[in-house]
Amino acid sequence: MSDITRKLASVRRISEITEIPGADNIVCATVDGWKLITQKSNNFKPNDLVCYFEIDSFLPVTEQFEWLRKSSFKSTKNLGDGFRIKTMKMRGVVSQGLIVPMDDFFEYDPRDGNYYWRDGSPDYVVEGTDLTEYLGVQKYEKPIPSNLIGRARGNFPIFIAKTDQERLQNVYNKYKNHYEDMEFEVTLKLDGSSMTAYHYKDGENEPIDSVCSRNLDLIETDDNLFWKVARQYRIPETLSVLCHNVALQGELMGPGVQENREQFKDHRFYLFDIWDIDNRRYLTPYERNKYIELSGLEVLHVPVLQERVKVFKEYPTLDAFIEYADSVKSINHQIAEGVVFKSYDIMGPSFKVISNKFLLKEKD
Ligand code: AMP
Ligand code: MN
Repeated sequence: MSDITRKLASVRRISEITEIPGADNIVCATVDGWKLITQKSNNFKPNDLVCYFEIDSFLPVTEQFEWLRKSSFKSTKNLGDGFRIKTMKMRGVVSQGLIVPMDDFFEYDPRDGNYYWRDGSPDYVVEGTDLTEYLGVQKYEKPIPSNLIGRARGNFPIFIAKTDQERLQNVYNKYKNHYEDMEFEVTLKLDGSSMTAYHYKDGENEPIDSVCSRNLDLIETDDNLFWKVARQYRIPETLSVLCHNVALQGELMGPGVQENREQFKDHRFYLFDIWDIDNRRYLTPYERNKYIELSGLEVLHVPVLQERVKVFKEYPTLDAFIEYADSVKSINHQIAEGVVFKSYDIMGPSFKVISNKFLLKEKD
């Protein structure tokens, strides 16, 4: 999949290296908001540029990554063979991601201290460069059973935003200063499958009413689970009567979807966002609630944990955010996947914080 909304692999700078008590061969490195364990023998120092791979990266089978075979090799139906990077805990330290020396992929020039692309291009490699595509890194996802997903009529529509959320660890320093006074809605992050139902009439063309999974626009059949659930809530009918160009986005939950950690006996759709197709933006939490009220849509909504909170004041450090995410309970489970924060400002951001407790318990 070449469709990348997040930099899974990029050039980053180490800000800190700390010793781990009692550990002789490993140290803890900090890269932006992430902490991770790395071999002491790499000899990384603060300020070094490195290739950083986020959790959920699925690395290709190449020589440079062979040393990961024992710990991380996976053979998958949807992505082929590769090495999966996931959250780990060693010696009491939670490790998120992987760093490898720049020398593994680039040519160092001692004359100017820069790294150069191996294809001979004259540009040197700068901090922040996205390496996801260049290194063939994919996003690791558990495949959805094919009996649930059915067949696709096409890719996810380009006129609707995908439901991916940025991780706070990637943007914390920037957001903290920018959004101190901004209010956010705090919602429970449910661990199901992303589902989008939309109505779209483009000019004189016939209107389209359709249902999508995270990445595909799906053909309606009797047994396609996404369509079934959409019909169960009368979503296609309601949207086609309303005649608004909108997309309802939510989490499909229930038997057969992920681990069904909530142990639901039935299938459900929990709405978490409404995309305004004509204005190319998400409705704010306030507008979303009004829309649901006025449209007569009868859908569930993801649990709202807090409303109108200045979260960067309430949680003054990144650790405070993570501690909060770790403390949240899910609907029928003691450990929630995490929380998603959404700004009340039209121009404001949204982001997620995943619970470390959840990540450490996650099954493959
Ligand atoms: P991830 O699955 O970690 O990439 O996180 C993004 C996904 O979380 C979205 O694609 C949604 O399917 C899902 N999600 C679950 N609960 C929420 C929520 N309350 N708000 C937004 N997205 C959510
Ligand atoms: Mn998910």
